[in-house]
Order: sequence, then structure tokens, then C-alpha cells
Amino acid sequence: MNVTPAPATVDTHCPYCALQCGMGLRAVSGSGPGEEQEPGAAGVPDGPGASRVPRVPGGRGGPGVEVVERPSFPVNRGALCGKGRTAAAVLDRRVRLTEPLVRREPGGELAPAGWDEALDRIAEALARTRAAHGPDAVGVFGGGGLTNEKAYGLGKFARVVLGTSQIDYNGRFCMSSAAAAHQRAFGLDRGLPFPLEDVARTGCVVLVGSNIAETMPPALRYLRELKENGGKLVVVDPRRTRTAELADLHLAPRPGTDLALALGMLHLVVAEGHLDEAFVAARTSGWPEARAAAMAHWPEQVERITGVPLPALREAVELFCGAPSGMVLTARGPEQQSKGTDTVGAWINLCLATGRAGRPLSGYGCLTGQGNGQGGREHGQKADQLPGYRKLADPAARAHVAGVWGVHPDSLPAPGRSAYELLDALGTDIRSLLVMGSNPVVSAPRAAHITERFAALDFLAVADVVLSETAAMADVVLPVTQWAEETGTTTNLEGRVVLRRKALDPPAGVRSDLEVLNGLASRLGGREKSFPADPEEVFEELRRASAGGPADYSGISYRRIAEEDGVFWPCPDERHPGTRRLFLERFATEDGRARFVPVTHRPAAEEPDADFPLYLTTGRVVSQYQSGAQTRRVAELNAAAPGPFVELHPHLAERLGVAEGDPVAVTSRRGRAVAPARVTRDIRADTVFMPFHWPGEGRANTLTNPALDPVSRMPEFKVCAVRVEAADAP
Ligand code: SF4
Repeated sequence: MNVTPAPATVDTHCPYCALQCGMGLRAVSGSGPGEEQEPGAAGVPDGPGASRVPRVPGGRGGPGVEVVERPSFPVNRGALCGKGRTAAAVLDRRVRLTEPLVRREPGGELAPAGWDEALDRIAEALARTRAAHGPDAVGVFGGGGLTNEKAYGLGKFARVVLGTSQIDYNGRFCMSSAAAAHQRAFGLDRGLPFPLEDVARTGCVVLVGSNIAETMPPALRYLRELKENGGKLVVVDPRRTRTAELADLHLAPRPGTDLALALGMLHLVVAEGHLDEAFVAARTSGWPEARAAAMAHWPEQVERITGVPLPALREAVELFCGAPSGMVLTARGPEQQSKGTDTVGAWINLCLATGRAGRPLSGYGCLTGQGNGQGGREHGQKADQLPGYRKLADPAARAHVAGVWGVHPDSLPAPGRSAYELLDALGTDIRSLLVMGSNPVVSAPRAAHITERFAALDFLAVADVVLSETAAMADVVLPVTQWAEETGTTTNLEGRVVLRRKALDPPAGVRSDLEVLNGLASRLGGREKSFPADPEEVFEELRRASAGGPADYSGISYRRIAEEDGVFWPCPDERHPGTRRLFLERFATEDGRARFVPVTHRPAAEEPDADFPLYLTTGRVVSQYQSGAQTRRVAELNAAAPGPFVELHPHLAERLGVAEGDPVAVTSRRGRAVAPARVTRDIRADTVFMPFHWPGEGRANTLTNPALDPVSRMPEFKVCAVRVEAADAP
């Protein structure tokens, strides 16, 4: 089916976050000069692939399209944030890669090459590593921004062509704790088990560790409508963010203590008679153990642990339980912890005890971050999973997927390492690595160490649209197509499968990720027929592979998505309407009951002490996205957010002798970062905050702690201990 519409405006979706806002792409004629920015300016790449950065689309070599509003898409109704509005700027050939690059001598420069040479070099290196060290010495690292088709193709390529178990992706850093908690409690993980429109109509939202105003501004309207409808908003965040300013009640716990906060609320729910006994009896299991764990956490003790005054804790319970319905929504705050699964589990327990799950306008949901954060974790690029959200360790799942792939189930490798563990093994157990759509040199925790691990590899290949910091270290760099130049599906944070449509041809010299997999499969055993480059063909195979699995896409086709502007999974056949709301009749566990899991408070892996007396927490700003590889190349976004900063309270600033804008050094056990001070009363006096979008001396992830959650293997990005000084201090 040809889904590329003929009209000049093509309906598609934003390339960035999990909201997957609808937008139009309209052809622009002419080639005005455009304003330009010199290479080497703040955030602008300097080196191969970098020339000049356009301030407006449509300049020389410009993208040829502009972003326009598309009010018909129900999630954002035309609204876009600055990242979405300027997304076409990254299509400009002056900021992106347009030809393969190879490093012909160790330590030499990256130099232009043809596709055959580039693919031959990758295939030869991966085959050499496999022959010398075995298949698990070859690693694959994917990304939560890859389309469903690419995520599916990459997982299949790793297991069928390379035969390696060593594949994971950067979504492990994003929401894996919420996914694990979701699976544990409900038997199924879909970020939001209800559409966003329900958020505006519920009685009370408890928003935990989510700064929607910076991460996905068009979604703020759901919170505004909630309040207009008489609903209440409680925000839990150590910082008084722009989102927290909207709240009826803002709780600012110490970083890493929101598990205790949830337990304190659950204790009060029981003590003050808010338990929904009928719901607990009819639709859950495991309450006695969860109750005992919560009742062991006295509210006064919770007040000491969290720093949240008891009256505020009590008010939060009254707001949540006093409303006719309610939701808890989490994001990276509670999830990126070494106890992230249990922290999310504590919030789920609160929902279950109050009957706020599996009912209309109620439930627990995770606000997934990356553009295809939901679909990216469903189709097999995760270390332990097969397409359809099946478990790789499950014999029935292996048999089904192996049948679709035409291989013997025993030939599929076992689950491999999680993302950080995989990166930590580079240069030792893993000798060669293929990276697709990820920039771990900036986005991984303990980033200086991870950069050293990349440098220790025998061979590194990176497929990306720009020369990211990780790509700049590669032996071969492949320039690949972007969102507007290819058709493919993503699955937004609601579980709505949407279609990104091709609006223009890529520059000559650029190929799609699917073409890359096809080319490598051909060179590594003649399996190119199993790796079609046509995205719809891949999606048709994905449908078959997912059939009968938890994330069943078998009833979803490109035609349906185009006609219906998105279809919710699970959707087991073509007559099925898709599932907008999950769990209303039963949960996805064997007995249909949601499972309480008893959890207890424990400190962060690293608490402040005499040497490192403060907490560091990290996060995002509205004008940059993830590692900034794309958004740092957009002049308008750079002007709004030109570099990192250290947010600190005036009391702390005074103690340090630091004024607004002064350089401050932040040191953890893993390294040192320097950035200008931003002095504000909107943060706790015992905590500093840094956004993580930049490389260089202000790289926040130089500092972060890779301590892993034992269930999800999520690193503890959100809390570590640091020392802060004026930057010129010895
Ligand atoms: Fe794009 Fe997210 Fe901004 Fe929407 S909120 S325009 S999806 S970055």
C-alpha cells in the first residue's frame, strides 16, 4: 500500500518524545540564503559532517519542508513544543551526515567512503570478532527512538545473523523500572493503560518525578483541563518545577525517598479508613504482606526520611482519596533509581489499596520519554525480549518467533546483558559493537568510564543521522534517513500505534537503517531476503511475530493506522477496534487479579557524607532532547538552552561564595563537571540539579551513579552524592 499522500502537506508525527505529536510537513519552495551559525559555536558540531547550521529551514541545502500544525490529531490537537516546531532543521544537509565515513588507520581521521566499502568493513570486522572470540563478543546497542520496524529488525539481526545474546538499548535507561513494576503488578506493561484524555477527567492526579512542562509541554493541557474540571493535582518533585507550579499541593522529598513517601501515604490510607476493601478483595492478591510492609513505616518516620512535613503528607492522602477517581503518573524521578522497580511498585500499591486501578478514569501510568519508548521495548531490541513483548526465556515464545523467522528455536541465544552492563563490558568481553540511534557517550551513567570502554573496542560502527559524540569515536559511521524521509510506525506513551509518513527523499548518499540491516545481512550469510528494506513489509512480519503475544499488533496495518490516525494495542485481529483502556474487566495476570508486592524503604546506593555532602539529581530542559545530538544542532533551540548549568539554592550559593552565572564544579566519586550556577529557591538546599544534554566539561553523566536496580537493571541516574565548589577552588 502506498501511504505517502500526494498533497503538498504530509501528515506525520514529531521525531522526538513519546507524546508523538501529530504535525504536518509542507514543502517549501525556493532556497533563500538562511541565517547561519559558525561551526564550533556553542553546541554546534565541529568536524566531519559539520559545516553550517541553518537558523531557518529552507536555506541552501535546507530541508525543503516546514513543520505545520495538525489540529486533527487528538493527542496534541495542533500544539507543538519548540523541538517539534524546529524539527525540520535537522533535515538540513549542512548539519547532518550525508556520506559514510571510515577510519582507515587506527587513530586516524574519519574520511568519506562509499557504501560498499563501509558495509564491507563492518561485515568483515564483525565476522572477524565472531570467529576469534565467539558470537557474544559482538554487541548491538539500539535506541528508543527507532521505529517499531527498526527495533524489530535490529533484534532479529542480532539473534539470527550475528547469533549474539549481547543486545540492549538506551530505553533501559529510560523507563525500564516502570515496565518491570507494571509487569509485576498487572501482568502487562503499557505505559499508560488509558488514553491521555482520561487524565483531564479524573478526580486527582499524583504526578511523581515528572516535569511535563519541560519534557512534553503540549501534554500540560491535560493537567490544566483537569483543574478546570475541578480535579486536583499533587506533584512530587525535589524541585519546584514549572509543572509543580500548577499543583494544588507540591511535595518536595529528598531525592531517592519517594518510595518511603508512597509507603507513608499507604499507611495513612489504612490508618484513616480509606482502604477500598471491596476492590482489594475482589481484584487483587497479596494485600496482607503489602499492608504489613506499609504499616511498618510510621508517618513520623516517613517525615524524617523524606523531609516532607506530616501535614502535607496527610493533605496528599486527603486529596487523592477524597476524589471520586484518581491516577498516579510517574516518570524518570522514581524510575531511575537503584530501587526504581520497588519505588514504582509502592505507588502502584497505593492505587490498588484505594481502588484506583482497573476502573474508568483511574489507574497507574508511566509517562514514557523517548519517541518510541513504548514500541522500542516491545519488539526485541531489549536483552530479554522477543517481538510482541514476549520473553526470550519462554520456550513457547521462542518457538513462535523462531517459526516466523524460519530458524530453529534452539538457535536463538539466551537473554544477554542489560545496557549499562553491556557498555561496561566493551573492550573486554565485547570486542566489536554496532550502535543504531543512540549516543551513550553522553547519555550513559559514569560517562567518562563508558567513553574509555568505547575507546577500548576493537571495532565500533555507528548508524546515525548526525555525527554524535559516540559516532565520532567509530571506525565506520553510516548516515541514515530521518523521520521525514522514511515511513514507519511508532507507539506513543498511550500504546497508540501511529504512522510517520515519508514526506521527501533523503539526500543522495543516505540510506535507511533497514537498508543497512539488509546490506549487512547479505554480507554476513546471504540472509538479505529475511531483512527487507521496505518498512511495510517488515511491519507485516512484525504483526505475525507479535500475534498472540502481550503486545499483539496482528490486527494493525498501515492502512488502518492511516485511516484511524492511530490504533491502540493489543489488537488481535483486523475487526478488533484496538484497546484504549486496559484492565477494566481483569488484569493480565494468570488469575486476573492485580498483585500487591510488599516493598520497604531503603536508602539510595550513595547517600551524602562528609566528603560528598549534597545530592545531585539530573533531568531535562524544554529546548533540548536526550543527549542533544539532534537538538544541539538547531540554532533556535541552542539560543534558548545554550549549555548546561548547576541549579542550587541561595543558601548553598552563599555558603560557597557563588553568584548567578559563576562557574561551579560538581564532583562525585566518578568525576567532575563544571557549569555556570543558576541560583533559585525552587530547589532543596541539600540538592543540586544538572540537565544532562551536553558533552564536555559540563557533562552531567560524568557524575551519575551506575548502581543498578536488581529487577529492571536501571541505573540510578536520579540520585548520587556530590561536592560542589566554586570552579576555581583547588
Ligand atoms: Fe515533539 Fe514531544 Fe514536543 Fe510533541 S512534546 S512536539 S512529540 S518533542
